[in-house]
Amino acid sequence: MVTNLQARDAATVLHPYSNLSTLPAQGSLILERGEGVFVYDVDGKPYLEGMAGLWCNALGHGREELVQAAAEQMRKLPFAHLFTGKSHDPAIALAEKLKELAPTQAAKVFFCNSGSEANDTQVKLVWYVNNALGRPQKKKIISRIKAYHGVTVASASLTGLPNNHIDFDLPIAGIRHAACPHHYRFALDGESEEQFATRLADDLDAMIQAEGPETVAAFIAEPVMGAGGVIVPPKTYFEKIQQVLEKHDVMLIADEVICGFGRLGEWFGSTALGMKPDTISIAKQLSSSYAPIAGVIIPDWIDDALTSQSAKIGVFGHGFTYSGHPVAAAVALKTLEIYERENILGHVRSIVPHFQKRLTAFADHPLVGEARGVGLVGALEAVADKATKRSFDPKRAVAAKIVAFAEEEGLIVRAIGDAVSICPPLVITEAEIDLLFDRLGRALDRAEGWASS
Ligand code: PLP
Repeated sequence: MVTNLQARDAATVLHPYSNLSTLPAQGSLILERGEGVFVYDVDGKPYLEGMAGLWCNALGHGREELVQAAAEQMRKLPFAHLFTGKSHDPAIALAEKLKELAPTQAAKVFFCNSGSEANDTQVKLVWYVNNALGRPQKKKIISRIKAYHGVTVASASLTGLPNNHIDFDLPIAGIRHAACPHHYRFALDGESEEQFATRLADDLDAMIQAEGPETVAAFIAEPVMGAGGVIVPPKTYFEKIQQVLEKHDVMLIADEVICGFGRLGEWFGSTALGMKPDTISIAKQLSSSYAPIAGVIIPDWIDDALTSQSAKIGVFGHGFTYSGHPVAAAVALKTLEIYERENILGHVRSIVPHFQKRLTAFADHPLVGEARGVGLVGALEAVADKATKRSFDPKRAVAAKIVAFAEEEGLIVRAIGDAVSICPPLVITEAEIDLLFDRLGRALDRAEGWASS
């Protein structure tokens, strides 16, 4: 039954990524409060947050210190901008901290409000720096099929998922998409992970040659593809891809919007997976989602190129009213302090084996074709036939059904095509991991009964 609040919601809120045709029929789950890794709906029913909100709520709900950090900054200076000639302490201190943590020769941080804005910034940065280096034709950017980099026009162009492209003349000029590194779906019969990685690197090499290396500026990649279905790169993938990029003088952009700040047990997913990026996009767990803030970590060589050619470039024509918003910056700074003080990365490393053991045990479930993951993120891909990997008819929306059953069981997870993704808060305990997978197991069993009926 649709409640009054649900009816008002459906009548007034245009939801991101909502299926417009099904909205009126089904009401939204309306959440009221959160505590630790649980959120509660308006009737007081608790749900284990198996998606950390949207891959972002690392520290769980109810962190009073973060509330205090925001309140103190609001009292002191609720707003000041960073446009030329102005600055403030929270942004300066946060940039310094990020430089210290970055796995690159970081020089500066550009702040913005969302992952999409961070990746739009990356596109402009690529264009600016190549102009500064006197090679304005080197401006193409290669992304990958199934990558998710955001929804604004440039970041949606980088995104390699069909919903972001249909009917809107996207991608914009100069964006290309290389193959998706999903071994389970796209490897040839008998091809090992390493052989698959070699083939993808060879294909990338051929793509850059065909485009003309003098026109290709950058390759962008999430360490682990998130919204494309939690796709873990095959062994040796980044090592081989990076050899190709180096050969053609193509820079590497790491989109750390999901993997950044501990998801894989390191500050950056790049470090965990052997990526050596030039620039890094950050968002989400930077503030544990308590305030919207994102950024791009810029290396020495780009900063040097831009500043030494400043006369030629003139104004860096990019920025947002809320770039480095003082309240969001203060919350982010406090978040990083908590990560360090509570050794959140160490905690993640200690619970990952249990998380992965429970996750991969579902590979034996009749409905699951692949149980995949790394660190504290994973996915179960439902298949109609395990032997042939045949997918369900998309009209059956099997993953959405699993998610709906999980919700009834008191667990929030997310459907991505035929996959169900799992990305709990980093502070989750071993007992809570068990609860998560027990509930998910019951949802899968119910979905199996539904699928075979
Ligand atoms: N990049 C990645 C890897 C993401 O997962 C997302 C969002 O989920 C984005 C970029 C876009 O971030 P936002 O939704 O904050 O614009």
